[in-house]
Amino acid sequence: MVVRSMRYRDVMRALLDHDCMHKSTKGSHEKWLCPCGSHIAIVPNHKVVSPGVVGDVIKKFACLPRGWLQ
Ligand SMILES: [Zn+2]
Repeated sequence: MVVRSMRYRDVMRALLDHDCMHKSTKGSHEKWLCPCGSHIAIVPNHKVVSPGVVGDVIKKFACLPRGWLQ
């Protein structure tokens, strides 16, 4: 699967649309919890989220349906 970079606000919209919860923010890094409650991902609060981070969030939130983010 080829992962593309995304705008931060598009990542936020997808997280909120799938009932993910913002847990905390440390500097420019936001901690997010998936709806099942057992997966955590870190999303940097930058204008553009790199493909590496997008791929990591998809991998961490394995309980969400395929294609939820891209
Ligand atoms: Zn989960």
